[in-house]
Amino acid sequence: MTTTELTGAEDVAWDLSDLYESGDDPRIEQDVQGADAAAAEFRERYYGRVAQLSAGELVEAIDERERIESIFTRAIYYAHLWFSTDMADSPRGALLARLTEKGAVLDTQLLFFGLELADLDDAVADAFLADLALERWRHWLRSVRKFRPYILTEPEEKIITEKSVSGVSAWDRLYDELLGAVRVDFDGNDVSFEEAMAKLHSGDRDERRRASEAVTVALEPGLRTRTFIFNTIVLDKSVDDRLRGYETWISARNLRNDTTDEAVQALIDATVARYDVVQRYYRLKARLIGLDRLSFYDRMAPIGEDPTKSSWDEARQIVVDAYGDFSGDVGDIVQRFFRESWIDAPVRENKRPGAFCATNVPGVHPYVFMNFTGDRRSVLTLAHELGHGLHGYLAEPLGLFNANTPLTTAETASVFGEALTFKRLLAIEEDPARRLNLLAGRIEDSIATVFRQISMNRFEDVVHTARREEGELSMEKLEELWLETQTRMFGDSVDVEGYGAWWSYIPHFMGSPGYVYAYAYGFLFALSIFRKYELEGDAMVEPYLDVLRSGGSKPPEELAKLVGLDLTDPSIWESGIDAFAAELDEAEALAADIGLGS
Ligand SMILES: [Zn+2]
Repeated sequence: MTTTELTGAEDVAWDLSDLYESGDDPRIEQDVQGADAAAAEFRERYYGRVAQLSAGELVEAIDERERIESIFTRAIYYAHLWFSTDMADSPRGALLARLTEKGAVLDTQLLFFGLELADLDDAVADAFLADLALERWRHWLRSVRKFRPYILTEPEEKIITEKSVSGVSAWDRLYDELLGAVRVDFDGNDVSFEEAMAKLHSGDRDERRRASEAVTVALEPGLRTRTFIFNTIVLDKSVDDRLRGYETWISARNLRNDTTDEAVQALIDATVARYDVVQRYYRLKARLIGLDRLSFYDRMAPIGEDPTKSSWDEARQIVVDAYGDFSGDVGDIVQRFFRESWIDAPVRENKRPGAFCATNVPGVHPYVFMNFTGDRRSVLTLAHELGHGLHGYLAEPLGLFNANTPLTTAETASVFGEALTFKRLLAIEEDPARRLNLLAGRIEDSIATVFRQISMNRFEDVVHTARREEGELSMEKLEELWLETQTRMFGDSVDVEGYGAWWSYIPHFMGSPGYVYAYAYGFLFALSIFRKYELEGDAMVEPYLDVLRSGGSKPPEELAKLVGLDLTDPSIWESGIDAFAAELDEAEALAADIGLGS
């Protein structure tokens, strides 16, 4: 990897010494051994005895269980972070591998505790839940027990778990291996699937078309096998759901996400009802790139060149100002990430690609990881990860278990922070063409995160339903259902000729059925809070920060109430979508102004 342009981020490296001095700091080994010994002691003390504990003793046990996990989490976080900045350095890889194995051993030691809690009689559990001593652990305890109505007997569970290795997990792995082996013949060159897909971002339409045709050809040979694998996984899930008594194909996922079938249905209905936003945008985009109509392979095409680059200092200023305008205290917290070296920013050789935030580092502060290039996306990524950082920072006092958020609310602060920063970027950009570019990027992000995920959820929904009602689905049938659900979103704004087999490269459908809607859920949840902030101003600051300070100690429905929102009310999801529609209005007006729009 080479960096041609300097951004000023070259020396912005994080300081991991708040965790450990270095990879051979003897305290790492001490912590690992300490966690190990404490886990053995914990097992000795509580195994088979959880049902007999008093409320006070149970509090003590959960505290200890959390303490053990916190010690170990700190060590393994360090290993992850240290490895991320130089993946070619073998001591780093070795430490991470060793601790990962150690973690699995620890998990096995401690597994009984959750199982015994889940197994408590309702009367015993209700008494615990009613006890004031356990107030701090009430939500956690409910989460541990929420699968109880769907758990089978112990011998049945044992058989399911052991057979799944040669059953559903094996099918999923076969799928991954087959997909991983797909090569694409692009203009006579043998390229990876990712490389071919990346060409859909090309500014040259003919190149995009050739790439899409090459991908379609490459997907063809294994299609019958992938169809069979998908059918098998969907059947396996229907058997599992039936035996366990889940009401719908998505119910188990909703439960895991800490949300309800009603809230998810409200989200889906609200999004599907506004597919017109997608259609309007793609019509605008066709005009902006000089086409009568987009083909499916044009959706990622760039709209002109955006030469705007920010140095690291400029990016820092924009992001800190955006957060600081929202609340001075929040601005101060965000400043600390920069001042105290909690961020690793530059593109560096052997560094992991992408960006993330290590949110709940026990006893310490979060760390932000990214590859800063100076383009617009990079500035928004910085804002996004700092949102996670703020969330983790504010929730940290709750401790590891209560700070941890489910997928559905994990993106609240990141999306919110990105929205704040986007508004700021827009406010300081006067050039109409660059404003249009900024808006288009924002709308495309929204389409990818919200509408596309919901349209994929609609595909999963018809597939799981049809498989249950009609039996095995043919290749042609899957293609038909895919095109139907996608065309419902695109209307006539996108030509889907050649798109039929493209359902078959999306790994979530196989590995995590029902997963995809959570992206839309998290995004719209955060945006509806943001909309409320725009309307009500400073009055929303403290309630919003209360949501962040609550971490994962409450279910999303209760978090929403803190900011006066009701997740089963479709209008909350609609208000997030209205925000995109408003951005689209402005983009259309700008396009008309600069003579591109009509
Ligand atoms: Zn995120």
